[in-house]
Amino acid sequence: MRTAGCGYSARPMNGGRLAGKVALITGAANGLGRVAAELFAAEGAQVVIGDVIDASAAVDAIRVAGGVAASVPLDVSDDASVAAAVAHTVATFGGLHVLYNNAGISPADDDGPVNTSDATWDAVLDINVTGVARCCRHGIPAMLESGGGSIINVASFVAHVGAATPQIAYTSSKGAVLAMTREIATIYARQGIRVNALCPGPVLTPLLAKFLSDDDKRQRRLVHIPMGRFGEPIEIAKAALFLASDDSSFMTGQSLLIDGGITAAYTTPD
Ligand code: NAD
Repeated sequence: MRTAGCGYSARPMNGGRLAGKVALITGAANGLGRVAAELFAAEGAQVVIGDVIDASAAVDAIRVAGGVAASVPLDVSDDASVAAAVAHTVATFGGLHVLYNNAGISPADDDGPVNTSDATWDAVLDINVTGVARCCRHGIPAMLESGGGSIINVASFVAHVGAATPQIAYTSSKGAVLAMTREIATIYARQGIRVNALCPGPVLTPLLAKFLSDDDKRQRRLVHIPMGRFGEPIEIAKAALFLASDDSSFMTGQSLLIDGGITAAYTTPD
């Protein structure tokens, strides 16, 4: 399992596709967010990593590679914490242009509709949905002050297709992220803020790896992926880079699926 290290070690000669931009990435001490933070920094962004866990290793890795990064304690389930993280980002680097709402949870007791408790529903929706809304609540005014930018909300392929492996609160939360993305995109389309959802397929970060603890479980999951493999964190980060950068300048309110063909398929090749 590889969740850290995007393989990019130096700034591009032209300053990079995110040169001059300040990016706040939530949940980036680990997993997909960390690899995106490294790629964004390698492409010239000044990156702030917000997480409930210590992010110093992620920040150090970016600095060693020649990038610019800082960290801030952030709990997206706490409105005051989100406000403080956005304020810290602006105070540290002078603005906010890219808000990458990546933090999310997938608890083991999230099950089918009959067996999932209110407590689990509330915990998942509070972080995966209201957490995104809180970050937009505080991030959008800072982005408007900065002249606009790009918001990337992380959903999932399960927002598009149902799975017999139940995780009903998680799946519902990611569907809500898609709906929220379309509406915020529409509201701010004429004010220079683009908002898109990024929908990864399965990637063996800690979030997913805990459910696929043995080879048999992993093989059963792979049967449903036309490409026959899990995604790599860098493959998700490159899509996030496209959404963050001006390369996607006429794209807003969309859902970008990076899923090895899962949502295109009815059956998979032998
Ligand atoms: P991960 O568990 O490896 O990392 C998630 C990070 O979010 C961790 O660093 C964690 O500390 C942080 N976090 C958790 N709660 C937080 C909170 N309240 N405030 C701030 N940070 C918090 O997960 P990942 O696989 O890297 O997932 C990142 C995003 O991608 C999530 O939104 C997830 O739902 C989504 N996603 C992942 C996959 C996959 O296969 N890994 C597939 C589709 C979507």
